Amino acid sequence: MERRHSIEVSVANERLGAGHPVRVQSMTDTITANIEATVRQILALAHEGSELVRLSVLDDEDAMAVPTIRAQLIDSGCHVPLVGDFHFNGHTLLKEHPSCAKALDKFRINPGNLGFGQSHDRNFASILEIAGKHDKAVRIGANWGSLNDPVRQRLLSEHADWPLEKVLEHAMIESTLESASFAINMGFPANKLVLSAKVSHVPSLLTIYRALAKKTDFALHLGLTEAGTGESAIIASTAAMSILLQEGIGDTLRVSITPPAHINLDEEDPRIQEVRVCQQILQANGLRTFVPTVRSCPGCGRTQREIHRSMVIQVSEFVASRALDWRMRFPGSETMVIAVMGCVVNGIKEAKHANVGISLPGRAGESPLPLVFSDGESYGVLQGENPGEQFTQFLENYIKSHFGSRVAK
Ligand code: SF4
Repeated sequence: MERRHSIEVSVANERLGAGHPVRVQSMTDTITANIEATVRQILALAHEGSELVRLSVLDDEDAMAVPTIRAQLIDSGCHVPLVGDFHFNGHTLLKEHPSCAKALDKFRINPGNLGFGQSHDRNFASILEIAGKHDKAVRIGANWGSLNDPVRQRLLSEHADWPLEKVLEHAMIESTLESASFAINMGFPANKLVLSAKVSHVPSLLTIYRALAKKTDFALHLGLTEAGTGESAIIASTAAMSILLQEGIGDTLRVSITPPAHINLDEEDPRIQEVRVCQQILQANGLRTFVPTVRSCPGCGRTQREIHRSMVIQVSEFVASRALDWRMRFPGSETMVIAVMGCVVNGIKEAKHANVGISLPGRAGESPLPLVFSDGESYGVLQGENPGEQFTQFLENYIKSHFGSRVAK
């Protein structure tokens, strides 16, 4: 796939744009001033693979907490770039808390809530000046929930015959481009600027990002805003971002998912789902690999249903639980494909196409033992009580023997 040309941007040690891998981002939902909770969540997000983590900075307490958060992360060996999310008062907070400005790696600002007229320009310029002084990147992050009102009003009066949706799309595009021009005219370097223009309607998002991609070469951050929760958030985000990514558009992305209401500190932080979904979108689109792929057929009337389902679940859960450790210790293991198939109809060929495959006995008088394949060759059958355990042990051994000699970067 040919990626759109974009300007390279450095955010601390992370590079994005200009053909670098599309970066995975996430955002905390803790109160930033709650240092312990925020550090814990950032560590969880970074550990899962978030390459930038954004956190809200909404008042003095949050701004004062940021340097300590940064210091505690470093003490824990975590150097993930931190993005401060500012609305309404970013110019004041960054001016009054230089240590916060210094501790962050990038500021995300929203042109729609920097004030109006001269006050807007003054506030915007002040943030750019502070970012320049500390050599920080800035994301101009327009959002149609807080769209720049003068641009919207102007377009509404100029195009009274347009449907409202079209006016909003154009207002988003113009507002984002005007803000980018303002920054460049102020002398802010293009290689420190990232743009985003998020909406919650997939077709509008496509229109807006295609226009931005065509009209500028600034690095673009992708995201569908207010995407919702659960399956609907994941499906809408995947639909939108896959199309853009396949068109070569996008240098970083975040998937917004409202987590479940309950918070149990003993359980995995549900926020890490954002990271996993971003990784899966990139992997499914052939742009990056993070975890081995488990291919399984859905099962049908030919399947021995219980055997097939339990094998697929056991293998998927095993791979999910081991993937991070494998990625660290056995680089390259994330590119591996594992097939779990329900009968011989497609089972043998699919299992042979995979690095490791298993074709389970179907209901139509097939051999009663699961057939295992490795690198396209028949490995033999699994005998005994617990084929799931045998197969996952086989996977573990395969990873060690095939990727064990490589050195992790
Ligand atoms: S591989 Fe066999 S069990 Fe699986 S869906 Fe196809 S026919 Fe059904």
